[in-house]
Formats: sequence, structure tokens, C-alpha cells
Amino acid sequence: MTNMVQDIAAAVESYPEETAVGFRGQEWSYEQLWGMTGQFAAGLADHGIGPGDRVAVYLPNLPQFVTAFHGTLHAGGIVVPMNPQYKTREISHLLADSGATVVVALADLVPFVDAVRDDTDVEHVVSVGGEAEGAIPFEEFLADEPAAVVERDDDDVAVQPYTSGTTGKPKGVLLTHHNLAWDARATAKLLPGGVDPDDKFLGVLPLFHIYGMTVTMIATLFEGGGYYPLPAWDAEDTLSAIEAEQLTVMHGVPAMFNDLINFDGADDYDISSIRFANSGGSSLPIEVMRQFEETFDVELYEGYGLTETSPVTHANYPGARRPGSIGKPLDGLEARIVDDDFEDVPPVAEGPVDEETVDLDEITGELVIHGPNVMQGYYGLPEANEEAFTEADGKRWFHTGDVGYRDEDDFYYVVDREKHMIVTGGYNVYPREVEELLFEHPAIADAAVVGIPDERRGETVKAFVVPVPDADLTPDDVREYCLENLAEYKHPREVAFIDELPRTTTGKVQKFELREREADAGGDSE
Ligand code: ATP
Repeated sequence: MTNMVQDIAAAVESYPEETAVGFRGQEWSYEQLWGMTGQFAAGLADHGIGPGDRVAVYLPNLPQFVTAFHGTLHAGGIVVPMNPQYKTREISHLLADSGATVVVALADLVPFVDAVRDDTDVEHVVSVGGEAEGAIPFEEFLADEPAAVVERDDDDVAVQPYTSGTTGKPKGVLLTHHNLAWDARATAKLLPGGVDPDDKFLGVLPLFHIYGMTVTMIATLFEGGGYYPLPAWDAEDTLSAIEAEQLTVMHGVPAMFNDLINFDGADDYDISSIRFANSGGSSLPIEVMRQFEETFDVELYEGYGLTETSPVTHANYPGARRPGSIGKPLDGLEARIVDDDFEDVPPVAEGPVDEETVDLDEITGELVIHGPNVMQGYYGLPEANEEAFTEADGKRWFHTGDVGYRDEDDFYYVVDREKHMIVTGGYNVYPREVEELLFEHPAIADAAVVGIPDERRGETVKAFVVPVPDADLTPDDVREYCLENLAEYKHPREVAFIDELPRTTTGKVQKFELREREADAGGDSE
């Protein structure tokens, strides 16, 4: 029997004095972290929480998140992470659906929990960072004596994150101890020599999302490394934290790397202490990768994953990298590109292909995954589970919903999400291709492409563009630039300039919101 608590316990035994967590100049050793998680677990037990009970963690990246997370597992509970940007409306579904009985919330967020308390099973609220009416302050919740570890099996559920709900109501994703431990260890192995006790991980990816949780917090704490959380994204804070703490590992999303290269004072910082930088969560424009490497002299490797796969399934790493590719499948999992009949689509010789000259429909299919990191299933949603999996050759394959292809060297390429594809006048356009081109324009700082309704073509391509400050650029220039570089049917017939793209906390452009804005504006455009 193994579980994540035993994995942490092993690290505590090997590295008692090493720093486990560092925050604003303060550091906690592995022994201290272990003591606090035991005290938190005892606090849960004192409040009647036992094996299989759900504890919602509604916090930004703070040391208390780490304690509540591992403390819940220590007590045999299941962590339900909630985005701290969510308000009452958004958390009500998560709390009701998960049946969480305890919520650990930032004091300022407690009123949002109170507003739905009567409609849920929530019995206890623990406040972090201050007092709040009806809530027990975090420090008081910690019992005097740590609790003994409650045994859980490898295949017991450890964490139940929710999908962001871009395609309907958020779904609870059941991830077991084994799912997460396997993925954390597999991503740790991407670093040359693996994670070292001297490694210090930047913790800027939000912990409520599986990406930050697994690849930053869990991956380092299993191996004796340090975790340095930052509660909010800010380019300058990030650069100065890396420099001040001499952080060695950085995981981020493309929007963060793009912010860093566009940050005015970038040259003032030396972040050469970073020995491994990785981008995931959405496609990394090649131009952003190139500029990041040029500005900071740090190599940037792209990876890929989903909440349902704990999350990472593919990665580039030192010695195996192809720009534009999501990398190779992690050792120990299987990936396929399949057509509508679930037959393998043959690989291309070497990617990335020139999308202008290759018929993408011929070489692409859906990316499906079979492996130890694939979720047990969605919580209480038999129909969604039915749709998410296909049984073939005695294996259970998870459908990612992403369109891609692979090459003969086993590098994979994600063309786009199936649901983002634009069908215009009978042609398929994948927004990512147009976005890559827009990123190459020196006067464009950020860009997103969506399909909008069009009477004649069904849909038409529209680009939302954030120009660099004081750029001499007009929407017509953008249209012409695309026409010069892309097949006519792919170019954005409509271009709108905006100040900022709407993004999720994990850096994904909220394309549905851009489409909604479009609908609200009655289709007006520049
Ligand atoms: P929902 O499932 O509710 O829409 P979501 O999209 O936020 O939520 P996540 O699990 O956070 O769900 O994101 C997974 C998706 O992110 C993948 O299916 C893929 O579309 C995208 N993604 C992640 N990494 C990459 C990458 N390197 N390149 C392209 N797309 C990526």
C-alpha cells in the first residue's frame, strides 16, 4: 500500500532539515511542514472528518494551501481545490456537487461560502489570513498534537478538481493517489538528473489547478526540493523572486512567458539560476519561446496535459525537443492519434509540418491517452464517463478532445482543440495557426482568433489583437499581413483591437467570452 502521504513521509525522513516551503523570506523545513500537516489532520479529526470526506481548499498560493492539502490527505480526506477568483455563483456548484463538509478559505472569501452554506453540506469554515464571522481561524484549527496518518490505498481518490466548465457545468475529476504521484514523479524526471534537494521551484502556477499542484508543489516535495509560492501573477514580482531566492525551476503558461518578454524592465533581472523552464496549459507560440530564450538566456520546454490526466502526458525536455511540438509521451503511458473509427492515423516523417502545404485533415486525428495518470472518472456523471472513454484492445483510452498529429520520432503536435476549429465556407481553419502568425508580427503583443457567425460562410475568422503600446498599426494592416502569409480563406476578415484578452487564471484565452462580446456587439467590428 502506498499513497502520497507516505511519499511525503519518506521525504521528511530523508531531508528533515531541508527547506520544504519558502514564502516572503520565511522558510519551513520538511520536519516543520510534517508537524503542521499532522496538526491540521488532527484538527480535521477533531471536527469529525475522516476517510473519504471532502475538504474544499479555497485559497491562493500560500503556505497554508500546502498544509491544508497535505493535512487533508494525512487525515484520509479528499481535497476539492476551488479557484480563489470564484465567487458565490461559481463555488455553489462545486460545494453542492462535491459534498464538501469543510472549507478552508481566505478570510476575505468566507462571505462567499456563507452565502451558500445552507444549500450545501458545509459544516465548518476555516479562515486564513484573518478572522471572519462564523469561521475558525487557521491557527486555532491546528490541533496541539499531530494525528497519526490515516491509511489510504493507492487507488483511493486524493483530489477532486473541477474542469473550468467552458463546455457546460464544471465536472469533478476523480484523481487517485497513484494518478498524481505517478505524474509528479514522471515530470520530476524531465529535469536533467531529476529533482534535487537543492532545487527551488517557483510556485506561480495556481495551486487550485492540477498543473501547479502536481508539477510544482508535489513534484518538488517528493524529492526534498523547496516550493516557493507566489499568490498572484506579476511579471516583476516573479523575476525578483527568482533572482532573490535563486530559484532553479520555473513552470508557467504561455501568457506568463509572453508577459515576461513584454515587461519593460526585463533586462534588469538575471534569472540564470533557472535550470529548467517549462510551459504548458495552452500552445506556446514559437515566437514567444524564441524571444523568452533570447531575453533571459534560459531554455524553454513545452509540455502538454489535461486535468483528467493529472495533468502531464507529453513533454519536451533537454535532449528531446522540437519547437512547435508538445513533445513525446511520458515514459510509461501510451498515446495515439485516432480517426473517427478509432483507427490509428499514420505519422508524418518529421514535424512540424507546414500547415500551408499539407492537408491537415489527412494527417490529424484525436489524441487519446492510456496510462497510470488517467483519472478514475468524472464524479457522479456516468454519461460523461461514457463519452470520455473508449475501450479498445483491453485498454481504456481517454479522449482529450484535442486535434493533433505525430511524427516518426514520436513527437506529437496539437493543432487545436476540436471545439475551437472554425468551419468557414466549407474550409477548416485552426485558430492556432493564425495566432502563431500574429505573434510573429513585431507590433502585436497578444492575439486570439475565434470563429464568429457569418450568413454566407457559416462562420468567419475574427482576430482580437492587443497591439504593443504606441504601435503604428491598424486593423487593415493586420488583415493584409495575414493575407500575405496565409491562404485567403484563413485570413481574419474581421480584426478588433482590444486592451487585454480575457483569460482564465491558468492563462487560457476565454474564447467563449470573445464570442459572447461579439454577439453582444451585434457583430460590429473594425
Ligand atoms: P474545460 O475542460 O472545462 O474546457 P480546461 O480547458 O481549462 O477546462 P484543462 O484541463 O485545464 O481544462 O486544459 C486542458 C487543455 O489545455 C487541453 O485539452 C489542451 O486543449 C490545452 N493544452 C494544454 N497544454 C497544451 C499545449 N502545450 N498545447 C496546446 N494545448 C494545450
